[in-house]
Amino acid sequence: MDLGIAGRRALVCAASKGLGRGCAEALAAAGVELVINARGEAALAETAAAIAAAHEVAVTPVAADITDAEGRARVLAAAGAVDILVTNAGGPPPGVWTDWGREDFLLAIEANMLTPIALMQALVPGMMARGWGRVVNITSQAVKAPMAQLGLSNTARTGLTGFVAGTSRQVAPHGVTINNLLPGIHATLRADALDGAVARAANISLEEARARRAATIPVRRYGTPAEFGAACAFLCSVHAGFIVGQNLSLDGGAFVATL
Ligand code: NAP
Repeated sequence: MDLGIAGRRALVCAASKGLGRGCAEALAAAGVELVINARGEAALAETAAAIAAAHEVAVTPVAADITDAEGRARVLAAAGAVDILVTNAGGPPPGVWTDWGREDFLLAIEANMLTPIALMQALVPGMMARGWGRVVNITSQAVKAPMAQLGLSNTARTGLTGFVAGTSRQVAPHGVTINNLLPGIHATLRADALDGAVARAANISLEEARARRAATIPVRRYGTPAEFGAACAFLCSVHAGFIVGQNLSLDGGAFVATL
């Protein structure tokens, strides 16, 4: 399927690895010019070069912490007038609800709620003025089904989801769609970190922790960044203009509900 977005320009945040990289790869494959971001300069430069070579599109890397106002300003300056925004950042640490104090909540809310909101507030007005735009926020399955050990994520991402629910309906008349992608477990470094914590707590190997988690998923495996990226690229396509304010679970059937 031709996604109809060749020649468009996108900012994909937190994209040197994992799900963000999956989204960047899929958009580049559709002919989209990219600005990509992550904190670690070397991995980001490597990813940018690999994507540019594979898909023959311009890829500009900007090494910065997207959750920090100064870093975000540098990313936005390099991005300029983008047509597509994919928001993403690292997830908060796991723990128990009694572990977290005010500072922990503020950090999580800054990273996983206020940062995507700030990015949308900076870039969506330009999309509206030009009459076309796509925003995809990478959130989490924790928004639909809270995960006990990820209380910081449950809290911050639900706030973002509420913002998107209201805002997406206000910008849609101007040709801009905002939707959220909710990853279930995907084979990335983040999954390794979460499985590592489970393995240590249960005194089992990392492989055993992975196998136990995979057994709870109807498809019996982890998702891949490529599958995730393909869904993101579709939501950014010309074909997705009637999809507004939705929360799409990519979880192999893990969330059990009729609707
Ligand atoms: P990942 O494999 O660890 O990759 C994270 C990427 O984000 C890296 O490129 C990292 O590069 C970059 N990054 C992290 N913090 C950043 C920051 N403050 N500023 C800029 N770039 C940053 O993680 P992932 O699995 O792709 O997860 C992406 C998001 O989805 C996270 O919020 C995660 O919690 C959420 N999620 C993931 C899963 C899963 O199963 N994988 C499930 C549910 C939700 P640097 O470290 O160099 O900055």
